[in-house]
Amino acid sequence: MVKFLFFFLFRLFNSNNKKNESGNRKTCDVLPPIKTADTMDPFNEEDKMYLFENRLKTFENWPFDKDCTCTPENMARAGFVHTPSDNSPDIAMCFFCLKELEGWEPDDDPQKEHKSHAPSCSFISLTKNVEDLTMEEFFKLQKEKDKIITRKRCIEAITKFEEAAKVRREKIIKTARGEE
Ligand SMILES: [Zn+2]
Repeated sequence: MVKFLFFFLFRLFNSNNKKNESGNRKTCDVLPPIKTADTMDPFNEEDKMYLFENRLKTFENWPFDKDCTCTPENMARAGFVHTPSDNSPDIAMCFFCLKELEGWEPDDDPQKEHKSHAPSCSFISLTKNVEDLTMEEFFKLQKEKDKIITRKRCIEAITKFEEAAKVRREKIIKTARGEE
């Protein structure tokens, strides 16, 4: 009963909260901001990608269909969302571990590819559907997801800082040499 109620609330929230949906499916659409214990809410818009149908919707312009193994359905079932860029129309990212894969072949099996490129992903290793998880299991999973997002954001911030520091350093050297 608890499981059912939990999943019912999850679906209800997702079906009623579509105001921020956009046709432009870029990485930023599926990367939520860092949450704290106070703001964490498993029913929010950012976590809608836990649902298969929401992941499937991102594959509207996916280049593989019907006779392929990596159909939109199989991609979404394996946890992927479509995050294309101008130069790479076939980039797909796991909504959970954030692993990005491109260069898909028609016979690629999304489940196998996901497991082989991201063996530590807790989502692809699940032995049951998200809707069958207990509250405790779901929160454990969510905690793991938040850790992955925090780690990725830290790496992005460090890279941005290092790039800015490099530019600043070069400017200081030029000024010291009297070149500016
Ligand atoms: Zn994954």
